Amino acid sequence: MAKWKLPPDGGHMERPDGVYYQTMNMTEINARLKKNDLIIVPVGSTECHGAAQPLGEDTFLVTRMAEQVALKMGCTVAEPVWYGSHPYPHLGMPGTVVVPEETFLANLRAIIAGFWNTGFRKQIFLNGHGQEEVIPLALHQWAKKYQVPCILISLHWPTVIHDFLKDKAHGGPFETPFQHADEAEASYSLALFPEFMKMELAVDNKPEGFLPAGHVDKGGEVYHSPIKGHEQVGLGGAEVLVYPEGVIGRPTLATAEKAKAGLDVLLDYMCKLVDDIMTRFPAGQLPPMDKVTMRDPKEVEALLKGPLNGGTHLYTISYPPVEKVPT
Ligand SMILES: [Zn+2]
Repeated sequence: MAKWKLPPDGGHMERPDGVYYQTMNMTEINARLKKNDLIIVPVGSTECHGAAQPLGEDTFLVTRMAEQVALKMGCTVAEPVWYGSHPYPHLGMPGTVVVPEETFLANLRAIIAGFWNTGFRKQIFLNGHGQEEVIPLALHQWAKKYQVPCILISLHWPTVIHDFLKDKAHGGPFETPFQHADEAEASYSLALFPEFMKMELAVDNKPEGFLPAGHVDKGGEVYHSPIKGHEQVGLGGAEVLVYPEGVIGRPTLATAEKAKAGLDVLLDYMCKLVDDIMTRFPAGQLPPMDKVTMRDPKEVEALLKGPLNGGTHLYTISYPPVEKVPT
């Protein structure tokens, strides 16, 4: 018996129900901050996902997950980051919008700064796309720049439930390994937003690598192979040349049922993460200043108070929240 209602009753991005930061006013935000100052920022992509699946698939996966967790835990969700960073093999694929790494990182740093300055100083970046090697850089760049108490987490959902994304030969529920817009990803999408899935249009293909299996991981790093998918160039072909279908695998095998056990575990884990953070650091509390920064305590106190409560705003330290570009 599934614990979570799947598929959910539609999305919440335009509902006035207190799930999304952007749908609330400052009266509501200030009340929310007193109760729960953790925000989940879904980070997706706009990317070709083949003939049958929406171009926002990676984004909808993480917004739908975040919405369920926020409804249960009382935290807040930010409207998503729709455009992502991409590895080399994605370049040139029609449908896909590739944001250069520095622009993507600068955008994330600006988002962290804005939410921190508002009072959401616990932030979970929930990633739904093959950019798990890029997002953590933004967190560390921001933290090095400002050196103020905060909790910043990059959570890549396939990593949390990697065993549930494996093929049957490795103990998972799928006929084929998790790659991209395939049996596994389409199954999760069918469980979370069936209204956008037109599976009668789906076209399969056969994934190929240039070396025998066992060296390079596939989507989501679920197999823990020696070389992560993003740690190589040249051991597989460019998508636009070898996978014109826009999928890597067999989306025709997808069913919502195959995703339900994994989603139960994933959503439960996310709730536990939020609960453990909020129990250890209730609203308004953060990791102790004297253990996380050597910045002048008076300055940090003023920043923590904020500009409308007798303190200062974050950008008095630095603006913009980016690394200095060498001249
Ligand atoms: Zn995807």
